[in-house]
Amino acid sequence: MSLRDLVSDHRPISVSFEFSPPKTDEAEATLWKAIRRLEPLAPSFVSVTYGAGGSTRERTHATVKRIVDETSLKPAAHLTCVGAPREEIDEIVRGYWDSGIRHIVALRGDMPNMQGAYAPHPQGYAYTPDLIEGILKIAPFDISVSCYPERHPDSLSMEHDIDLLKRKVDAGASRALTQFGFDNDLVARFRDRVAAEGISVPIVPGIIPSTGIKSITRMAEKSGASVPSWLARLYEGLDGDVETRRIVAAAVLAEQVQELRARGFEQFHFYVIGQPDLTYAACRILGLRPKSAV
Ligand code: FAD
Repeated sequence: MSLRDLVSDHRPISVSFEFSPPKTDEAEATLWKAIRRLEPLAPSFVSVTYGAGGSTRERTHATVKRIVDETSLKPAAHLTCVGAPREEIDEIVRGYWDSGIRHIVALRGDMPNMQGAYAPHPQGYAYTPDLIEGILKIAPFDISVSCYPERHPDSLSMEHDIDLLKRKVDAGASRALTQFGFDNDLVARFRDRVAAEGISVPIVPGIIPSTGIKSITRMAEKSGASVPSWLARLYEGLDGDVETRRIVAAAVLAEQVQELRARGFEQFHFYVIGQPDLTYAACRILGLRPKSAV
């Protein structure tokens, strides 16, 4: 599908955006500029990550609360099982519901600083399906979960990952957001395989602007994603040239959304990672227009 075809493709689409909670006042100002930039595109939700081991508990809460209070957006708060007893997690969940948050991205999480293999907290929710059941006992949240078209690094096999996804959906998840990736055929094959296993929730491709290719490569090494050699080659010699990296990233993003659309995807989850302009452009290419201009 070319850009020309995409422009005349009027099938409905929806997008969501993922942000990290800010650590400083300056980062907060940058985040809010990004939120305001993307808000007119009327995403189906915007999600806010939860720092490893709950390290951003207050900041995640403050950010989703401010989104509820000050914008037209629907926030989703990420929440992990790791390192906390059930009572503590239940209290966070109740706090979200009381603050008007209706959507949680439920995750297992990793040990703090990625130190060692995951071990459930003795009094905690052991794995994601347990967390989902716990959340839904408290209130009828909309639940999103993760999935890994390239396999989670801890996973024994793709069968195991797909079985786990089935358990998450049986527990109450209503969509699965993929780990970021750059191989669109692979994510389409994963979606088809999941559907063939009778899992009927949408598989929503996670899309990341590749401007910061070095940090993305580091993240990919730890997280069940890969950076293809063609992509690494595109950025060769551009370490000190952020402008060209942004232009390259825009081209990569445009191609990626075209390819995913051509493979029938209707929902897209963007990891914004400080690149609201590129994210905005990708949404425009997908056919989204600011609500006020429609
Ligand atoms: P799951 O998919 O639930 O499980 C991962 C692995 O755990 C499985 O592959 C399997 O090997 C093992 N496992 C699961 N259940 C069992 C079981 N019953 N018995 C034995 N082994 C089992 N991290 C954060 O800290 N904060 C965030 O906000 C955050 N947001 C994310 C958003 C998305 C869309 C994605 C894709 C990832 C996110 N992560 C986040 C990263 C995530 O926490 C890590 O990838 C973590 O290693 C796995 O968590 P998960 O929920 O994806 O795990």
